[in-house]
Amino acid sequence: MESSNSPLFKKGDLVVPVVRRPGDCPNCRIGRPDNCSDGKKHEAGITGLHGFMRDYFYEAPENLVLVRSKDLSKIGVLTEPLKNVVKAFEVFEKVSTRAVYQNQFSTYEGKKALIIGSACEAFLYAFVAREYGFTTYMANRHAIEDTKLQMCQNFDVNFVDYSKDVNFPDNFELDLLIDTSGDPSTIVRFLRKVNYNGVVILFGTNGKAPDGAITGNDIDWIVERNITVCGSVDAARIHYEKALDLIQKWHLGHAGVMSKMITGIYKPEDTSLFTVKPAGEIKSVIKWNDIE
Ligand SMILES: [Zn+2]
Repeated sequence: MESSNSPLFKKGDLVVPVVRRPGDCPNCRIGRPDNCSDGKKHEAGITGLHGFMRDYFYEAPENLVLVRSKDLSKIGVLTEPLKNVVKAFEVFEKVSTRAVYQNQFSTYEGKKALIIGSACEAFLYAFVAREYGFTTYMANRHAIEDTKLQMCQNFDVNFVDYSKDVNFPDNFELDLLIDTSGDPSTIVRFLRKVNYNGVVILFGTNGKAPDGAITGNDIDWIVERNITVCGSVDAARIHYEKALDLIQKWHLGHAGVMSKMITGIYKPEDTSLFTVKPAGEIKSVIKWNDIE
């Protein structure tokens, strides 16, 4: 931030801009445009507002979240994907209370979570699942690089390459399934492993994914087990704040893993990023100027 008359900020502060801007519906009016009731919110860089892909931008203080530690200058960009994850876990906490979900100690130890996908959000979902205490799996239909495996190991996350016809044990029952792929066939594949009172969170979207069939037996599985299937999109200011707290905690407790999430830093004029997916990419960053 260059300058501000706001009592909230001073020159040189690091900030993260909030993406969604409220409309007039009740959810928007209470600061939760992520739960907008009529779709009339706006999203910077997506609908109705310009984004932040430029050297400088003007923004009102109420749309900025302060990054309290300069230590996060390089990894603070992870706030954007992580705030979505924090909000999705808020959804999980709400819907899981429809029955007793936790173990006899009222914790999540011993509960199993599986995250479909291995891109940036999948890692962050897995890391947050570990925060809760879930035995956590991340699954994709291909292997991942050793550096990514090491990141999983650092957080005690188990990676599963299910292209290798992995046979899960008979008692492998998921309590939480999170999809970041948007691929119907993959979701259904794991849906039938979800346990009684389990929760399925759909986060990934992919309009180009091949059609997938959901069968009567799949519906039966969901109904007979009281499984909750819900979508979750975006996040509100409170989730940005919590995401920054998590990034700070992980920066201290998982030395090096957070910085490895940033797999490439590009100049604005290097547009190759938009045509060729960089090898081993987790999070690519475009650096617009030399302000640290
Ligand atoms: Zn609204």
